[in-house]
Amino acid sequence: RSKELGRKRFELFDATLAKNVIDVLALEGELRKALQHDQFEPYFQPICQLDGGRVLGYEALIRWNHPLRGLLQPADFLRIAEDSGLIEVIDWRMFELSCQLLLQYASDDTFLTLNVSALHLRHADFDTRLIQLLERTGLPPSRLVVEVTEGALLDNPERVRATLERLRVIGVGAALDDFGTGYSSLSYLHSLPLRILKIDRAFVQELDKGANTSSTTVVAAILALARALNIQVIAEGIETEIQRAALTAMGCDMAQGYLIGRPSPIAFWLESRAAGA
Ligand code: C2E
Ligand code: MG
Ligand code: MG
Ligand code: MG
Repeated sequence: RSKELGRKRFELFDATLAKNVIDVLALEGELRKALQHDQFEPYFQPICQLDGGRVLGYEALIRWNHPLRGLLQPADFLRIAEDSGLIEVIDWRMFELSCQLLLQYASDDTFLTLNVSALHLRHADFDTRLIQLLERTGLPPSRLVVEVTEGALLDNPERVRATLERLRVIGVGAALDDFGTGYSSLSYLHSLPLRILKIDRAFVQELDKGANTSSTTVVAAILALARALNIQVIAEGIETEIQRAALTAMGCDMAQGYLIGRPSPIAFWLESRAAGA
């Protein structure tokens, strides 16, 4: 309820749509203040085994606890955070908090996935900084997966490949996020050291329409390709039992979506485990 209120109030000053320079500058100022006052919080969405339902890991998703406007979603502020470059500092804060919270609350065999904006991958020292973060927080590299989008590859696919390769060597995994929506070129798939491919929710949602749709064919083809390349697959945005059943039948490995669990503060997952849910 408070979330709805927050969103309504926010419409008076809409960031996404920051239509003019004043709005953008005001929001940038607020983002800086939010950093100073530590108003960003990772929410965690479980990633489960499709066949069996065990929680294998969590994706960290940023939220902004705004003192006046309530809980803000990435769509409300991420664009401006990226355009202003502030996303870099914000992300490093998010990464640090996410590692700490996972270590503190989740069981030892779960992994953490972090969304890495394309800007990070332009820095030659991204992987070094990430390794330092792992050392500082104590999260074993094998428990970390970085999520990149196809867009991040456009810029300089060779540099991204090299960075992901250096991370792979120390045990950090890489996932290709929103697969199928971008500039999918199958040629780079096998050249990237990917552990996981995430099928975009757009395809998953189409599965409700039945087995004889083009989406079913596309998902089956993605699964076959991933299997051939020895890459695991997470289906994103599962909302219905029909989608879950279809994906299980097609042999997809992992599932994520509102049907299984919404992004929530880490303590929520602890409580639901204690309650035997
Ligand atoms: P994404 O990485 O593809 O994350 C999945 C988005 O789908 C999340 O939206 C999640 O809340 C939402 N989602 C999950 N399950 C369902 C479902 O069953 N149905 C529907 N309709 N949606 C579902 P969210 O949290 O708003 O994040 C949006 C995007 O913002 C993310 O897309 C990611 O690209 C970006 N993002 C989120 N957190 C961070 C962050 O800390 N740093 C950076 N750089 N980007 C982030
Ligand atoms: Mg993601
Ligand atoms: Mg995604
Ligand atoms: Mg996305």
